[in-house]
Amino acid sequence: MNNPNIVIIGAGYGGIMTAVKLQKSLNVNEANITLVNKHSYHYQTTWLHENAAGTLHHDRTRMQINDLIDTSKINFVQDTVTKVQPDDKKVLLENGELSYDYLVVGLGFEAATFGIQGLKENAFTISSINSARLIRQHIEYNFAKYNNEADKKEERLNLVVGGAGFTGIEFVGELANRVPELCKEYDVPREKVRIINVEAAPTALPGFDPELVEYAMNSLEARGVEFKIGAMIKEVTEDKLIFEKDEKREEISTNTVVWAAGVQGNSLIVDAGFETNRGRIPVRGDLRAPNYDDVFVVGDCALIMNEETERPYPPTAQIAIQQAEHTAENLKKLVQGNNHLESFTPEIQGTVASLGHNDAIGVVFDDKKLFGWSASAMKKLIDNRYLLKLGGIGLVLKKGKLNFFK
Ligand code: FAD
Repeated sequence: MNNPNIVIIGAGYGGIMTAVKLQKSLNVNEANITLVNKHSYHYQTTWLHENAAGTLHHDRTRMQINDLIDTSKINFVQDTVTKVQPDDKKVLLENGELSYDYLVVGLGFEAATFGIQGLKENAFTISSINSARLIRQHIEYNFAKYNNEADKKEERLNLVVGGAGFTGIEFVGELANRVPELCKEYDVPREKVRIINVEAAPTALPGFDPELVEYAMNSLEARGVEFKIGAMIKEVTEDKLIFEKDEKREEISTNTVVWAAGVQGNSLIVDAGFETNRGRIPVRGDLRAPNYDDVFVVGDCALIMNEETERPYPPTAQIAIQQAEHTAENLKKLVQGNNHLESFTPEIQGTVASLGHNDAIGVVFDDKKLFGWSASAMKKLIDNRYLLKLGGIGLVLKKGKLNFFK
């Protein structure tokens, strides 16, 4: 019998970790493994807000895929998936096609814009190295442009972030650190710059412990972040954002709106005809797609329910990595002729949100709350642990966050 073809699409947390685990657990003569990704590099999505604000260079966030995998065991194809055809067991690429016996879908997320007028056309999203670099350059350009115009335009210096969830809060935290540097570099008075965080829910960081939320808001406000809470964004144009709060419409003149208020699974999975729920595939216990025994789904494309809360788990890197490790184990079983697959249960080890250099909030080890430096150090440890799993101590030394005081 021929070796089975395992095709992994997407080399984010879910895809790359599946590949790295499989290369350790399977011999070359047991399966043909192909990893497809649109870029030559893997990036840490959880650091993109730092790249977007300009507090961390994007080269720290990305790493070449060929340096992470054993190319004698895994065939890396740099290409863009254009269509998945699960009934034909095929993946179409911009430059070819692949047939599979087993498919791992790890194509990640895209922004959910909820039909808000002008948002798709006029707002930025933090979703890749390219989009983060664009935001950084756009903000810098506006600071540089400000003093070159006779009529100084306030929209150049009003930085608006849509959403005060995890990503929105982490991004405004970085902006709060970056803005004073930009003001100095471009001779712009600090009081001219506004960082405005607009959130529709009645609180920032919905779902977080109220004490942590209060700490986060106080810390950010002290560094100049303005919150508009309970404010529903209605429209975004080239030079303003319109929102409704307490039944009143208000406008902020801005040409920088960064949307961080919602994600859904990659739209290719809807186009492929998989059953989806809110743009994600409600996977079975063993992480296979409904009706397809040969398709595993990891990361933000997968929807898994939390039995305790009866709500879906929020998509996180933490869960994507665990799903990848689990899927590699299950694939190994299938390849070796064992059809008894294990069910997946996430082990939530904690959640830590950064508020900028040296500051963060989080809950770890079930219910231990962390604030400030200790939370920030914990976040760095979590990040370094991922790098250790992915590429050993060498990768930690090269890309890790080793300065716990910055
Ligand atoms: P991704 O990491 O998005 O990777 C998808 C991969 O697929 C990418 O490499 C992409 O290039 C590739 N790809 C996409 N489309 C195609 C295509 N058509 N063809 C080929 N390749 C394709 N989670 C946490 O647990 N902790 C955090 O602190 C945290 N912070 C975050 C901060 C920010 C700013 C953001 C945006 C998210 C954060 N998250 C965090 C969420 C976390 O990043 C995601 O849950 C995680 O990235 C999902 O991993 P994934 O493997 O599904 O997809």
